[in-house]
Amino acid sequence: MTASISEALYELCGFARVSCEAELVVALEVDAGYRASAVAVSPTLPLSSFNLRNSRIFEHAWASAPVSASELRLPSAVINALPALPTFVLFVPAGLDHAPYSGLLLLWTAPDAPPPLVRHVPLLAGSVASALGRRREAVRQAAIRDQFNDLLESVPAGIVVFDGDGHGAMVNERAARLLSTEPGRHEASDVAEPMRMLRERCDNRKELDALYEGHMANVHYSVTTHWMLGERTYEVDTHPVHGDGERGRIWLFSDVTAELRMAANLRKMAETDPLTGAANRRSLESEFARIMKTPGARDRAFSVLMVDVDHFKQINDTHGHSVGDEVLRKVAARCRTALREGDLFARFGGEEFVAVLAAPQEAELTAIAERLRRSIAGSAFRSGTLSIPLTVSVGIASGTGRDAPPASFLATLIEQADDALYAAKQSGRNRVVSYTRQRLAG
Ligand code: GH3
Ligand code: MG
Ligand code: MG
Repeated sequence: MTASISEALYELCGFARVSCEAELVVALEVDAGYRASAVAVSPTLPLSSFNLRNSRIFEHAWASAPVSASELRLPSAVINALPALPTFVLFVPAGLDHAPYSGLLLLWTAPDAPPPLVRHVPLLAGSVASALGRRREAVRQAAIRDQFNDLLESVPAGIVVFDGDGHGAMVNERAARLLSTEPGRHEASDVAEPMRMLRERCDNRKELDALYEGHMANVHYSVTTHWMLGERTYEVDTHPVHGDGERGRIWLFSDVTAELRMAANLRKMAETDPLTGAANRRSLESEFARIMKTPGARDRAFSVLMVDVDHFKQINDTHGHSVGDEVLRKVAARCRTALREGDLFARFGGEEFVAVLAAPQEAELTAIAERLRRSIAGSAFRSGTLSIPLTVSVGIASGTGRDAPPASFLATLIEQADDALYAAKQSGRNRVVSYTRQRLAG
């Protein structure tokens, strides 16, 4: 666009030069500060920018008659462009808002008067002004377009923009890579198809299909969701963009894999005991609260096992804290192995662990607790050349969600299991004591 307008200006200059037998014709864009830049020159010459403030060109009422060059102070940039000194000069004003002193400059080097056709040159003023104006607008549009394209490429997201009329679409580099297509402008259908194929490849495509289908009838829908593509997850946002029609729509694809991974790691860290890798107390509590919200959970029976290592202080005192740590890790691992897949298990603090079991029968519960106790007492713990015999005491309590308010159900079971654990310690350690049976016995 810019090129064709420059071409037209060049043709205009050429036409004026040939018809008036001028040596040089320049279309000048001259701003309010008299800074002039040659937009087109005939014959083609490189002309640098110059200032016309002191030229006295604007003091003349240019009707149609050239004036003698000696009355003006022409910039050396112009004079040097000519093979001989200029004799006559004509300036045809073609002012524009942004460049009020613009116009067409004609120079003659021949000693005689300029040819008679010169008087018609001012007729070109309108064409020159209009071409300069169009050129200015084209330059501005190109700059906006460049800026917009820069922006599209600098945003760390794949961007697809569908035109309002539904015919065209624009794809930036990142989106092009994702869609295995070329960046730039496309027919809308040539972009919609790769987008459909990409969605097809998503692990959660069924969920996505249902989600987008729900919005089919509404051209104004906005949705932000995750597209899961194997290792990578994209946050995909789509919303209407208002422009030249109803169907304008933008799609933004942001790779959030690293973010999600970091969030998952942080969550895991916040839920895990760093020494043993078991869940921590907070995680056990939130997991139990989640289970209690599932249908029918309040009617089901749950049991808590409170496990405490016997005389653990002696391990630290005898072998040092780091051996104590190692033993704690192994205790946690043996406990976990003795439990079932769905049982919750956490380190509650120090050398104390808690397991929450869903709905075991009394006999089964005792069997599990005994299995756990024996898994510790059954064989000594090894650390280097050391062989460390160890036992645990276990307190058990059971109940259903109906026995206590939801918020204190777990705390109540833990308290009761702790009572039972205390009884186990009192009655000689290395044993399992049930809160209910202990109560009945008491
Ligand atoms: P009891 O049979 O009555 O439970 O005796 P105990 O020695 O096991 O109980 P006590 O509560 O007196 O001591 C627990 C010890 O566990 C004291 C503390 O230093 C130690 N301990 C707590 N956390 C850690 C840990 O992370 N690493 C190590 N090595 N020791 C720990
Ligand atoms: Mg202990
Ligand atoms: Mg303890």
